[in-house]
Amino acid sequence: MKEKIYITRKLPASVVKKLEGEFYIEMWGQEEEAIPREVLLEKVKDAQAVLCMLTETIDEEVLDAAPNLKVISNMAVGYNNIDVEAATKRQIIVTNTPGVLTETTADLTFALMMATARRLVEASDYLRTGKWGTWSPMQLTGMDIHGATLGIIGFGRIGQAVAKRAAGFGMNILYYNRSQKPEVEKETGARFAALNDVLRESDFISILLPYSEEAHHLISDKELRLMKKTAILINTARGGIVDEEALYDALKHEMIWAAGLDVFEKEPINPRHPLLTLPNVLTLPHIGSASIATRMKMAELAVDNVYNVLVSAGRVKRVN
Ligand code: NAP
Repeated sequence: MKEKIYITRKLPASVVKKLEGEFYIEMWGQEEEAIPREVLLEKVKDAQAVLCMLTETIDEEVLDAAPNLKVISNMAVGYNNIDVEAATKRQIIVTNTPGVLTETTADLTFALMMATARRLVEASDYLRTGKWGTWSPMQLTGMDIHGATLGIIGFGRIGQAVAKRAAGFGMNILYYNRSQKPEVEKETGARFAALNDVLRESDFISILLPYSEEAHHLISDKELRLMKKTAILINTARGGIVDEEALYDALKHEMIWAAGLDVFEKEPINPRHPLLTLPNVLTLPHIGSASIATRMKMAELAVDNVYNVLVSAGRVKRVN
């Protein structure tokens, strides 16, 4: 009998093709709607592999429901939606899709920095709602990007790719990271610094480290108070790294100047969330890696990961 792969979101047929024939594939048919929890629990019962999105929480309950599971392939970079420890205890391999989305997410991070600094969404709305009566000297003025200091918190693949863009814009770059990166320092002029120094000295602060218990609310009231009144906070990593209540207070009381957010503590964010009432917050629905080419590469890599684990483990007989 063919091994069953369950895919938790509709993926393009051209990508799934690689698995057809050799495996039995079932897929949640919706693209814009996440799989309900009860359907997931039912569908994994007889699955050897699950290809999931970051919208699915793969915890002990799911693992208990899936006694035959050999691989969980996450179509995302990172594993914060998966209980990796529990999976490892059951000898289930967990994979993700790093690397292929680095440049695209760095592009979006930079786009969010620029759009927040120059108030692009606010300015576009200003025009569309008929408020543009005349040109005026200080109308919709924002912050300069060139010559400003960018502090990058989490200097991995994406953080370094953002630094390369920032060097091209003539920015000064500081970074805080678990380990120092001398090679990238040479290439971009970035300087390694303590977290508090990065917070104090930067005009832009870009969060780009993975979510973990250690990183939970790494940016909270105390850290926001260290930042310049003119600072702009950009989060394109994971929502839980920034304490949203503290951020709301800081923005409301002009302790910092603005924020650009692609990620939230709870996604999708409630449209009535207090943060969304503030004019100095630019929000996006977690689209960091959302270019057509990159999403296709992520899907292909997630499929390859399932294939390689099942095949290389010698658990299926190769047909060709
Ligand atoms: P990465 O290459 O693994 O880089 C993460 C960096 O963070 C590493 O340099 C690591 O240090 C550092 N780090 C980890 N934990 C730390 C801690 N507690 N304190 C200080 N530094 C720490 O990951 P990446 O590919 O750049 O991605 C970064 C994150 O971006 C992902 O985990 C994901 O959550 C997020 N992301 C979001 C989107 C989106 O759509 N918005 C898209 C892609 C990724 P070392 O170098 O010493 O290991």
